[in-house]
Amino acid sequence: MRVEAKWWKKTEDGKVECYLCPVSCKLKDGGVGSCGVRANIGGKLYTFTYGSLISAAIDPVEKKPLFHFLPGHRTLTIATPGCNLHCKGCQNWEISQVPKGEVFKNRFYDETFVPPELIVEKALEHGCESISYSYSDPTIFAEYMLDVAKKAKEAGLKNIMVTAGFINPEPLEEIDKYMDAYSIDLKFFDDKAYREYSKGRLQPVLETIKYVFSKGKWVELTTLIVPKYLTEEQIKKIAEWIGNELAPWVPWHLSRFFPHYKATDLPPTPVEELIKAYNIGKEVGLEYVFVGNLPGNNYESTYCPKCGNTVIGRTGYFITDVNLKEGKCNKCGYEIKGVWEKNPAPSGV
Ligand code: SF4
Repeated sequence: MRVEAKWWKKTEDGKVECYLCPVSCKLKDGGVGSCGVRANIGGKLYTFTYGSLISAAIDPVEKKPLFHFLPGHRTLTIATPGCNLHCKGCQNWEISQVPKGEVFKNRFYDETFVPPELIVEKALEHGCESISYSYSDPTIFAEYMLDVAKKAKEAGLKNIMVTAGFINPEPLEEIDKYMDAYSIDLKFFDDKAYREYSKGRLQPVLETIKYVFSKGKWVELTTLIVPKYLTEEQIKKIAEWIGNELAPWVPWHLSRFFPHYKATDLPPTPVEELIKAYNIGKEVGLEYVFVGNLPGNNYESTYCPKCGNTVIGRTGYFITDVNLKEGKCNKCGYEIKGVWEKNPAPSGV
């Protein structure tokens, strides 16, 4: 549904400037932003996809991925079309990449409108404990996310933002008031790689991560091990940055890349590269490093950093084993950082 956007201003030369994300599109009348879903109509900026749901699913929170945030709970996950990044290997490109001009032609955006209160109602009806904003980047539906998140909070639900973190400080500050946890992609540690692969930039992403972490929100990071673009040197820098700028107990998910969209010339990440990245993370001193997108691997459980006990065993997104009591390893008593409102239970395989 078309509504006036929240974060924009007029420029001296008669355009409108969107300051929702660091792309900072300056648009003349009829101009469409890089995300494909915001446009200048008659001197005002509009978002065309407020509540235009393109995807909704109930997932285990582990799928976000969040491993140390209320493990095993169900989260209603929603998305609308568009994205402010353009990753070559996007696996959701059919919903994230909206051709410019589409918003003026496609009635889909009005016909799929779902009011915020209905999202909350459905989450409660299906026994979800949270709402996740994901699939495309939720930055792009920030106004809608904000309205759903406010209502979710009132209803006692948690809010989870699954994002690439390419958002400006002002909107982030407002959204963050309603968020409980973040799953953030830290794709590269090289601005050139960010620009070439994603049309993004490194520094704004680092600022986003630092900001939400400083606000005490639960944060887990994911790095897709993209061959060619993500070097071993960058992997080490990411691990060191997490340990130094955040904390060694921040979970870091290393995800296997598979070729999609415009990156079909790249191979899937070799398994040995994933294990190498895992070892780099551990050598740097990170306590919780995981390997994802690789079924049946030994690196998707939480091990106690002190005694090696399997504190939470996982197979894929399912919890198989729990040896955690009141946030501590039940063997040696080491504090396992996370948000554990209750002792998690196995969720079955
Ligand atoms: S949200 Fe869209 S219109 Fe706004 S600055 Fe980013 S890419 Fe441009």
